[in-house]
Amino acid sequence: MKEIIVAYQGEMTLKGLNRGTFEAVLAKSMKYRLKDLGNFKVYKAQSCMYAEPMDDNCDVDAAFDRISKIFGIIRLSRSVVCDKDFDTICKTAEEYLGPTLRSCKTFKVEAKRSDKKFPMNSPEICRELGAYLLSKHPHLRVKVKDPDLVVMVEIRDFGAYIHGPKFPGAGGLPVGTSGRALNMLSGGLDSPVAAYYMARRGLALHHIHFASPPYTSERARMKVEELAGIISQYTGNCILYVVPYTKPQEYIRDHAPAVLFTVLMRRSMMRIASIIGHEIDVQALITGESLAQVASQTAWALACTDSAQDIPILRPLIGLDKTEIVEVARKIGTYETSIQPYEDCCTIFTPPHPKTRPTLTEILEAEAAMPGLAELEAQAAAEVERVRIRMDQPQEVEF
Ligand code: ATP
Ligand code: MG
Repeated sequence: MKEIIVAYQGEMTLKGLNRGTFEAVLAKSMKYRLKDLGNFKVYKAQSCMYAEPMDDNCDVDAAFDRISKIFGIIRLSRSVVCDKDFDTICKTAEEYLGPTLRSCKTFKVEAKRSDKKFPMNSPEICRELGAYLLSKHPHLRVKVKDPDLVVMVEIRDFGAYIHGPKFPGAGGLPVGTSGRALNMLSGGLDSPVAAYYMARRGLALHHIHFASPPYTSERARMKVEELAGIISQYTGNCILYVVPYTKPQEYIRDHAPAVLFTVLMRRSMMRIASIIGHEIDVQALITGESLAQVASQTAWALACTDSAQDIPILRPLIGLDKTEIVEVARKIGTYETSIQPYEDCCTIFTPPHPKTRPTLTEILEAEAAMPGLAELEAQAAAEVERVRIRMDQPQEVEF
């Protein structure tokens, strides 16, 4: 019995004439991510993508896990394919799903018949296959609403598909179909979650991290690389741009009013991110900011940060509470790494009483008193280090 994986497309089915492009990106992404797991054939039919093992060396369990992390897929199941002969269908369904049915109390059969030449219609298939399975498992009861297991049979041109239980997919849109963005990645809990959310909406991502050695350690930077690696399971391969930020940061500390320090630093980071963002042609910058989480994230402070440069800033966590962010961090596997206690450059030199309602006028005045800052920012951008972050696979996907 050969098991294949069926992945159901999500929102992309609503994309009208663009749907083909979305499907091509999704197929490419699936092929790439299954590459080291054996010889899988990836193809589409109706609103599903299929991953079919072509020999016995394919790791179907690992493939299922990988596909469950690919954006654009709303549900996925394993299935077997057999000849379109009703006896064979019954026997195959029993062989494949019998062990699961033994531990269920209720079930129902659903049938779809896209091959209209098949001699039985869908209600007949449901009735007859249901009766067959009941004869094998007399303890079962048919339940139409919310049964323990739905036995789904599809009669297609190439054969009959018997689907196992459906599991939730990662949702969203295939990575790369919404453009490209630069995610501002700190070592905290928020920014990896922000990256996950925006990749989920189809953005291909690179990350930028500001490091201020010796105030921030090598270990803090390794933590950020580790986080980028974990998120790459969702985002695909990417580059982590590490900006040597010590000089601009010290300059701001030494030349600006302490109460405005954090907002001035955030604007400075945005300008550097913007230089790199323009070089690599991104459509957006992403941050893990959440309204009023800290003084630099009040609506007043965010307005000041926004006006520092011209690339749109996306803040997917803006309306989320910390507890909600933590929940997602646990789900996507970044939590344990994020909570390791290494300092971030945003937490050094912070004043005890930062201004929560800064005005743009006072910010611009403070910047006018820092004539050397632009040069230091340009230098930091020029000295940026590029670190390749790869999923544990041999080649890169190019979007
Ligand atoms: P935490 O969970 O501690 O809030 P955080 O990453 O959200 O972590 P904040 O101080 O709230 O830290 O920073 C707000 C946002 O600014 C971050 O979500 C991130 O997008 C960006 N940021 C902060 N520090 C850095 C850094 N060193 N490099 C790149 N981006 C940073
Ligand atoms: Mg935060």
